[in-house]
Amino acid sequence: MSTIDKFNEHVMMTYGRLPIVLDKGHDRVATDESGKSYIDFGSGIGTNSLGYTNDKWADAVCEQVRSIQHTSNYFYTKVQADFADKLCSATGYEKVFFGNSGAEANECAIKIARKYSFDKYGKGRHTIVTLVNSFHGRTVTTLSATGQDVFHNYFFPFTEGFVHTPANDTEALEKLLDEDKSICAVMFEFIQGEGGVNVLEQPFVDKIFELCAERDILTVADEIQTGLGRTGALLTSERYGVKPDITTLAKGIAGGIPMGACLAAEKCGDVLTKGTHGSTFGGNPIACAGANVVLDTLLSEGFMDSVNEKGFYLVNKLLEIPEVEGVDGMGLMLGVRLKSKKAADILLKCAENGLLVLTAKDKIRLLPPLNITKEDIDKGTEIFKGALED
Ligand SMILES: *Cc1c(COP(=O)(O)O)cnc(C)c1O
Repeated sequence: MSTIDKFNEHVMMTYGRLPIVLDKGHDRVATDESGKSYIDFGSGIGTNSLGYTNDKWADAVCEQVRSIQHTSNYFYTKVQADFADKLCSATGYEKVFFGNSGAEANECAIKIARKYSFDKYGKGRHTIVTLVNSFHGRTVTTLSATGQDVFHNYFFPFTEGFVHTPANDTEALEKLLDEDKSICAVMFEFIQGEGGVNVLEQPFVDKIFELCAERDILTVADEIQTGLGRTGALLTSERYGVKPDITTLAKGIAGGIPMGACLAAEKCGDVLTKGTHGSTFGGNPIACAGANVVLDTLLSEGFMDSVNEKGFYLVNKLLEIPEVEGVDGMGLMLGVRLKSKKAADILLKCAENGLLVLTAKDKIRLLPPLNITKEDIDKGTEIFKGALED
């Protein structure tokens, strides 16, 4: 039986997959079972931040596998201590909780926000505001947080205590925060990833922080897709000049090994106490070993400048293509608006021609490896252009 037949017989059909079996990968290129290669402009899905099997990363991960692969969280490990220390100092956060996915990082943020408010104000101040078109995960609670009606189906009853307000509408936000006294947090993506690479406007972000500060409402930035170098800064909050009380990370954090992290500022860093939260695999040593290499790379001299420089380079190349109407995003998180072609068709055409891209709503979404070379940008955009001209 072929890999695809075997797969389809036994793995739940929760994804629309391409008929490609990826077998190997190195740097920016993945290879399928038949030996055909693909330049990956999606980094998996924003996960392989240093590309496939980056040498330094693979060495660190393999070394960790051979020294200690896991321990229960009733013990300490050096590799987790080192990563936590480096991550908190680099981002300016006080505390971190490690899980294994984005949804888990957001669940942690939601629990902190609610307990922070419970500890200070008692029961009833538990509502979390999120934005229309947001995406925060697939657990029953993070689906509630997700501000898209298509996700609010089948799995009733959903977790209560979430309300959605339109992005970039300062008046609506102010009205909501004035009227609803049960709000404990506002949670948002600086750039909505799954929602279509929609960039929040600076005045709206400033307003969130102003209104929340006045009311002791926590700000929660979901940087699961935008964080750790993706937009040309360690955190996208830096680009907006703000400091959320909580920031969540996942996707690219460990270079393709499952990890989620919830960062908390001093104000709410000690809200979760012994026994109030946990995760068996959270902070796993192998994931931390990979994450250490990713973070060291991001913090190396000139790396962030190179992400921005390559982002501009890629945008300019894309804008030269006649079928491209415009490009949204920042750094190496880009949403390409097409004039008349359908994003889903272009994704298929690109794959046929050896380029992997993503979509977000009706845009082509590009999240190339942060260490992509200009040569690979050239090769990839050539294929992309061909697919659009076909
Ligand atoms: C991918 C994503 C999530 C969910 O992460 P999982 O690891 O799939 O649970 C949440 N928020 C944002 C912004 C994401 O991009």
